[in-house]
Amino acid sequence: MVIENGRIREFGDYPSLFRKTRELPVRWTHSNQVAVFPGLIDMHAHVAQYPAVARGQTELLPWLRQHIFPMEREFTGPKGRREAGAFFDELARNGTTTAMLYTAVYEDSCEAAFQAAALSGLRIIMGKTMMDVGSYGQAQPTKVVSISLHESERLCKTWHGANDGLIDYAVSPRFAVACSEKMMRGASWLAKQYGAYIQTHLAENIEECEKVRHQFPWAQDYTEVYEKCGLLGPRTVLGHCLHLAQREREVLAETQSRVAHCPTANLFLKSGILALDQMRATGLSIGLGSDVAAGPELNMWRVMRGAIESQKARSFYEKNVAIPTSSEALYLATQGAADALGKGRQIGSFEPGKEADLLVLDYSRLMPYSRVAGTPRVELCPEDILSLCIHRGGPEAVVETFVRGRSVYSSAA
Ligand SMILES: [Zn+2]
Repeated sequence: MVIENGRIREFGDYPSLFRKTRELPVRWTHSNQVAVFPGLIDMHAHVAQYPAVARGQTELLPWLRQHIFPMEREFTGPKGRREAGAFFDELARNGTTTAMLYTAVYEDSCEAAFQAAALSGLRIIMGKTMMDVGSYGQAQPTKVVSISLHESERLCKTWHGANDGLIDYAVSPRFAVACSEKMMRGASWLAKQYGAYIQTHLAENIEECEKVRHQFPWAQDYTEVYEKCGLLGPRTVLGHCLHLAQREREVLAETQSRVAHCPTANLFLKSGILALDQMRATGLSIGLGSDVAAGPELNMWRVMRGAIESQKARSFYEKNVAIPTSSEALYLATQGAADALGKGRQIGSFEPGKEADLLVLDYSRLMPYSRVAGTPRVELCPEDILSLCIHRGGPEAVVETFVRGRSVYSSAA
């Protein structure tokens, strides 16, 4: 691969590229069991929740109350600043080059997270979580909507398009259960005003859907709440979208809203299994999300594996389920997600002209007996290498991660 000014100039076999690019410095990868992949994209995770991974046995709403809100409530001041920095190192170590993230409700820790994101050199879309109904189980200031909008606007003004376009702002009303209509309409207005993204959760859990039905009796379904509040559109990423009627899927497709499929989180919180094939057949643009801390790991290989295995599980009780192949799963975590984020022409694959976001991975570290000296080497075809990465891959195999041609993580460092 020839990288020039952060972009992929050419891609091909070594002898023919070498003849054309003698003047360029060459970096060797010092193992011939190395694979290079487009940078992995995580379309949905929560910075403030990461320390709470793998906790609890309950479903979404009690889990939020018992494990998540107490943790997010503390994500401010020095503690919030410290954690925010460490989070981005973890993403890079996992080979994730682009992520769409929520922080907590506080302006200070969100600001600190943006500063850390800029330092990390990663491609980050992020926003301050907005909620004005039962926020962290505490009493609310009376002007919570206007305060939240004002703080979000300040952050959006500073960070949307910052760090040479690597950083974007996402206006982030948590979900309809935690937001008033006024808050959601305000969020929609704000995003339109600045051309920012919108992110929220939709139909993750049955109890959540029932709550929304009670809170918004005027809406025929959950999706209509967001539709009427102006939250749907091509810059909107909706997490989960599990329990939707066909009408709702069609509304999402018509408005070109984007879907973050979070299979590991859906299994962990027993939320359900996405009808992935039906979503794709409706024409929806879909990528994958770790949804840390509902998902236990930032490792996107695990999420790809979850996307495959959950459809295999679905096929035991439903007929004609399309099970994603390894390359389809990789697509969902790279080009598919890039398209869903409106960045498909910039990143997602190794097409010449695109920005060089990639990870270098030593797959010999994922093979059985890799630590036993004298084990004979097994030659693998590309399909086998990809399958090995999806089913056994993780940060221990990542050698180096690059964003726009610049190294953002090296296992040697
Ligand atoms: Zn989430």
